[in-house]
Amino acid sequence: MNQNKYDIAILGTGLGGLVCGYILSKNGFKVLLLEKESQIGGCLQTFRRFGIKFDTGMHYIGSMLEGQILHRLFDYLRLTDRVPLQRLDEQGYDLFSIAGRQYRYASGYDAFVETLAESFPHNHHDIEKYVAGLRAIANASPLYNLRKVEDNVFIEADYIKTSVNDFIAGITDNRELQNVLAGNLPLYAGVKDKTPTYIHALINNFYIQSAWRIIGGSDIIANSLADSIRAFGGEIRTKNEIVEIVCDDKHAVGVRLATGEYVEADSFISNIHPQAMLNLLDTHLIRKAYRARINDLDNTIANFTLYIKFKEKATPYLNYNYYYYENDDVWQSTDRQAGDKLRSYLFMHQCAEQNQKWAQSAEMIGYMKFDEVAQWADTTRGHRGEAYKEFKERTAEHYLSILEQSFPGIRSTIEGYETSSPLTYRDYTATQNGSMYGIIRDKNFPTQTLVSQRTKIPNLFLTGQNINSHGILGVTIGAALTCAEFLGLNKIIDEIESY
Ligand SMILES: Cc1cc2nc3c(=O)[nH]c(=O)nc-3n(C[C@H](O)[C@H](O)[C@H](O)COP(=O)(O)OP(=O)(O)OC[C@H]3O[C@@H](n4cnc5c(N)ncnc54)[C@H](O)[C@@H]3O)c2cc1C
Repeated sequence: MNQNKYDIAILGTGLGGLVCGYILSKNGFKVLLLEKESQIGGCLQTFRRFGIKFDTGMHYIGSMLEGQILHRLFDYLRLTDRVPLQRLDEQGYDLFSIAGRQYRYASGYDAFVETLAESFPHNHHDIEKYVAGLRAIANASPLYNLRKVEDNVFIEADYIKTSVNDFIAGITDNRELQNVLAGNLPLYAGVKDKTPTYIHALINNFYIQSAWRIIGGSDIIANSLADSIRAFGGEIRTKNEIVEIVCDDKHAVGVRLATGEYVEADSFISNIHPQAMLNLLDTHLIRKAYRARINDLDNTIANFTLYIKFKEKATPYLNYNYYYYENDDVWQSTDRQAGDKLRSYLFMHQCAEQNQKWAQSAEMIGYMKFDEVAQWADTTRGHRGEAYKEFKERTAEHYLSILEQSFPGIRSTIEGYETSSPLTYRDYTATQNGSMYGIIRDKNFPTQTLVSQRTKIPNLFLTGQNINSHGILGVTIGAALTCAEFLGLNKIIDEIESY
């Protein structure tokens, strides 16, 4: 017997790969996870500057009160006790500044309605209707409620075929309220007339129930999952880039690594962006039509982020997220062209300890199209040249001037900053053009833009944010869908229920 042969090789250690690794190794499969980076986690990776740990792609999570959906999943994944959390302000976990006015999302369905109704006293009923709508959509999904199913239906067709903006317009005529209800669209890089309602509804329903920051960095999630996988007998290798998925005339049989090593397995789960994964496959098993369909899919927009280290005891810690929109149409935020003024951003302090008084660090995230950095597309990390450095500095200074308008004096409290661009994300996670959340789901092409966990190769499956949905909840549920191919969905649901 070949001792180096695995039951399942998992390609990539993003959240999806790690959750699959956890579920399958827990169930006795001999798994190997292969990661190209020196750090596991994909978007859960963190980095250190000025002695501070910065998150790169997991800033806040929801539904972590006992009995709520992520808490149940975290119990099963042995994360609840290992991932320290700070609950965001219950009276306003998200604060929106839109065209000069401020609004708050409060925690809990009733508080959410009452708090928003303070800003919109004539629309109390509309806000109630909105919350009832979210809850109905979330309840309609068996998977998001861990209900057993006969097939892998995850949401009703109607919510896939309606856009977020139409859904909200159907609830209220008040344009100002429409904007506020769509205000956290950076969480899914929403596109007007495209993004399906269910994405918005599942995310908002998730955070309204309770919203939390991870204390001390999102890499804790990745490392805890990795510890469990190893304890279950699984193996994880970093700095092992996959350069080819090798097939015979029926199946995938192995992967070739950049080191030249060849690894065999019975089955494969790819956590690599599907378009990037297709580049690793040269086989007649993938038909031209499938390749063309996947390669034609658009990806969500990328971002430019400013990572800020504050001077000691210079800035009081803000226990909420701040969404800024210059104009009164939040949907315009993705339309920014190269060189345009930044008209929207998301600003968040990071949490280093419970009930902290002073902020040590913060992140400011703004959309950026890949075009803005395309001239450096052929460069690699750390070797992009002076012009790129200048571009990043110019952009950072522009961000700071915009931030200063909402937080006067903030600049003088900053000790230093770091930046990342779409190229950074492209090179650290291999997502297409640094896209934040992978493939765009489009209500106009509902089936075409939904990527299945199955591929045309019978023993090669997909996981990660491009199947099901993105974010901590979307990817975890997507991983359950992928593992269902080996274990059956109801068995996984039973296991989760038993915790
Ligand atoms: C800026 C930003 C902020 C976000 N904030 C939040 C948030 O606050 N809350 C939330 O819930 N979600 C948030 N998200 C979304 C969330 O981080 C992602 O949806 C999720 O982490 C993606 O997981 P994934 O499994 O798809 O893998 P990814 O994170 O995309 O990881 C894929 C992995 O595969 C590896 N890989 C790729 N190619 C190869 C290869 N050839 N060989 C070996 N390994 C390879 C990569 O190195 C990487 O480790 C945010 C995302 C971004 C970008």
